[in-house]
Amino acid sequence: MSEKKHSGVFRYLPPIDEVLRTATAQDLAEKFGTAFLTELARKTVENLREELRLNKVESEISREILLAKVEDCLQIEAEKENRRGVKKVINATGVIIHTNLGRAPLAEKAIRAVVEESSRYCTLEYDLETGKRGKRGGKVEQLLCELTGAESAIVVNNCAAATFFVLSALASGGETVISRGEMVEIGGDFRIPDVMQQAGTKLVEVGTTNRTKLRDFANAINENTRILLRVHPSNFRIVGFTEMPNLAELANLAHEKDLILFEDAGSGALFDFAEYGLTDEPIISVSIKQGVDIVAFSGDKLLGACQSGIIAGKAELIEKLRKHPLYRALRLDKIAYSILEATLEIYRNGTQFAEIPVLQAISMTEKEIEKRAQDFVRRLNLKLRQSKIENLKSKITEGVSAIGGGSAPNFHPKTTLISIAHEKFSAVELEEKLRSANPPVITRIYENRVMFDLRTVFTEEEEIILNLLTAFS
Ligand SMILES: *Cc1c(COP(=O)(O)O)cnc(C)c1O
Repeated sequence: MSEKKHSGVFRYLPPIDEVLRTATAQDLAEKFGTAFLTELARKTVENLREELRLNKVESEISREILLAKVEDCLQIEAEKENRRGVKKVINATGVIIHTNLGRAPLAEKAIRAVVEESSRYCTLEYDLETGKRGKRGGKVEQLLCELTGAESAIVVNNCAAATFFVLSALASGGETVISRGEMVEIGGDFRIPDVMQQAGTKLVEVGTTNRTKLRDFANAINENTRILLRVHPSNFRIVGFTEMPNLAELANLAHEKDLILFEDAGSGALFDFAEYGLTDEPIISVSIKQGVDIVAFSGDKLLGACQSGIIAGKAELIEKLRKHPLYRALRLDKIAYSILEATLEIYRNGTQFAEIPVLQAISMTEKEIEKRAQDFVRRLNLKLRQSKIENLKSKITEGVSAIGGGSAPNFHPKTTLISIAHEKFSAVELEEKLRSANPPVITRIYENRVMFDLRTVFTEEEEIILNLLTAFS
């Protein structure tokens, strides 16, 4: 097609000020602001000019048609903008600590603490008894000591920060000894050798990938050694012919030589999960009892609170951390402290399995989840019949859930999945429709069917999914 033939059509492109006067644009400007909308209108008209240049506009071309096109595009772009950023989703994947979906969902009491206590002015560093400055994080630290048996505790931004902080403050300029089997990478950007380098401590690897003995550690110790490091291999397991000295043995060795035994426990657990089949996460109180001097773990993995890195251990060492200049750069804000306080209080009350969503999801029995799935399918079928929809088919199948968040790779609790297929849409299309809903529902696809695992779905969210599925006719 010659340039000449369609060059005339550009005169039909609406000027920006005309676009901005449309009802659509006026509506959107109220929500997004004039500056944002003007820029969006400019881009939209530019895109349309490009389409005209490439002769891609298939409809008849007139001023009215192009203006309507611009309005449609504005609406679509505005919807996209609306969906950017942090948005609530329904997690039907069955992955309990889903890092992409914000890891641990908060307990109701933790949510309320943010809304009622910490969102405005609060006693973050204020003592109501004296009317003077108080200690940031004091209550959380006290709760952590009660729950772990540690002498002292301090909390920073996340577990990665905690590990970096401990190594920087207590081993920089010296050497840190670690088994070759624990030189792990946790999710791309947290790699133990890199963290050590940044922290200014020399990495001394001992043993082999599968077997490290106590004497490997002992032989590596010299006058520059500061820390013996244990890292929980959170997201993988070495099985078969393996050996690692236990924590108590390492603690004895460290203390004989006046060194620090530091454990990066990753997720960690505040108590024993064995009765739920989860046996391979370090229990923090056990680590402390076995003699580790410092243990670090995440706040938003098994603990079930918000992003944070908990450091518990010997009072003398924790005090060194508190006085270190890095602490100021890594410390928590008031929102995080109030979430941690509320969550740890639940543990102290002993009602964690009733109140902390991560623990509710882990402890949900096979029977319970099967019943929920059957109930869900029954309600779905009823709704479909009432709406005379016949092209959506559901069935129940067995499957497994996962902990996620790079923890417990061997733990896959049995679950009951709801498997959905639609005569008109492929599984990929159905998954996308669910993901485009408001709120979006995140599912997995298996053998060309969309799978729902209710283990991670809050009961009040079931109705939303039911209504959504009934709308895909
Ligand atoms: C998850 C994990 C980390 C990082 O924790 P964040 O709280 O995500 O920073 C560090 N070490 C281990 C062993 C982990 O499992």
